[in-house]
Amino acid sequence: MAFEPSEKTQAILDMINEFVDKELIPMEAEFKNKEFYGYEDELKKKRQMVHDMELWAPVHPKEHGGMGLPLMDTAMIYEALGRTPYGLYVFGCQAPDAGNAEILHKYGTSEQKAEYLQPLIDGDIRSCFAMTEVEVAGSNPTWLLTTAEKDGDDYVLNGHKWYTSSADGAEFAVVMAETNPEAEAIHMRASMILVPLKTPGFNLIRNISVMGHEGEGWNSHAEVSFQNCRVPQANVLGGEGMGFVLSQERLGPGRIHHCMRWIGEANRCFDLMCSYAKTRRRTPTQVLADSDIIKTYIADSAADILSSRLMVLNAAHIIETKGVKFAMKDISLIKFYVANALGRVMDRALQVHGGLGMSDDTPIAGYYRMERAARIYDGADEVHKLSVAKRILREY
Ligand SMILES: Cc1cc2nc3c(=O)[nH]c(=O)nc-3n(C[C@H](O)[C@H](O)[C@H](O)COP(=O)(O)OP(=O)(O)OC[C@H]3O[C@@H](n4cnc5c(N)ncnc54)[C@H](O)[C@@H]3O)c2cc1C
Repeated sequence: MAFEPSEKTQAILDMINEFVDKELIPMEAEFKNKEFYGYEDELKKKRQMVHDMELWAPVHPKEHGGMGLPLMDTAMIYEALGRTPYGLYVFGCQAPDAGNAEILHKYGTSEQKAEYLQPLIDGDIRSCFAMTEVEVAGSNPTWLLTTAEKDGDDYVLNGHKWYTSSADGAEFAVVMAETNPEAEAIHMRASMILVPLKTPGFNLIRNISVMGHEGEGWNSHAEVSFQNCRVPQANVLGGEGMGFVLSQERLGPGRIHHCMRWIGEANRCFDLMCSYAKTRRRTPTQVLADSDIIKTYIADSAADILSSRLMVLNAAHIIETKGVKFAMKDISLIKFYVANALGRVMDRALQVHGGLGMSDDTPIAGYYRMERAARIYDGADEVHKLSVAKRILREY
């Protein structure tokens, strides 16, 4: 099946691509992978331009100020925005806010929507998602040590988490905690609870240094703790014991978006690789692209990108036409396949650039550092491969 965007979507994609090329890619030379530090004002101006073009928050519902586009369209938009490290942030659809907004929209009460969802979509506040724990395997989502015990009208949270991305400067966290440890069904023991980060008992212990890079603000990954952290029971999201169900919902379309952003990153690395191969001389009369080895890098990368793209759009098509529960195998397939395809494309692009590839003079090194984690977060490769194989073997 050819996944062609509609005329309307193509027009939006053209505007976004033009904006990325004219307004965002030129900033990269100055930002040089310092990313957001000290550049908030410039990024704010770009966000305002996106608002003025009525392209803000493409992934979010219209009634909250987004564009209210269907999954297939937003998938292609993520691909376009992935071509620069600032794309998602400037268009108001960056993780983890986009995923948090999605479940708040679906499951939040009207009070929760007014307090948390609207300012989040407006870009006035940021959020984080605290599930992974230091002491137990994050790959097993039913194993949590963080507890939320009832006391009067409140929950009292205690626990130790890490890789709570973007916690630094966030207004609130969506926290996965055990509320029903006695529930017979293991998947009904945890809940998602909204915790404002100014609540006493919430501690940001440190921003973790990841691959030599200690992020700040939106671009951070924090170790955090909850020590007798008290919030109203009204802060539970989607009902008690619904944590696992909500996290599955959050991750379904979310993985389509992650994968399409990765394909956008791979496209950018591919473009850089091809342009450099055509211009970098290896002798006074020959360029790198004259080498057959370099040609295989280009062909293999083209195959990685096209196969990834078709698989992801196919998974999005199944979600749109049949529903997320019919796409579980395909979602796991794309999660590990595209993360690895991206790794291969980035690696070849970096290799072709030689010393320049290791420098931060191109975005390749930054993508490479940032996206090694693609094979770990939202489910490690092994977990998704086991899940795919289990589903396939059931049919035999
Ligand atoms: C950059 C980054 C950002 C992140 N952001 C967030 C966030 O915002 N919020 C959040 O809650 N978490 C976040 N995470 C955490 C991430 O989701 C977890 O790291 C991931 O789920 C794996 O859990 P773990 O680290 O505890 O590894 P473990 O579960 O301890 O697994 C370690 C390794 O063992 C292997 N393995 C695991 N299970 C199996 C199995 N069944 N069979 C075979 N091998 C297996 C895999 O190779 C895996 O990588 C982030 C992580 C990174 C790196």
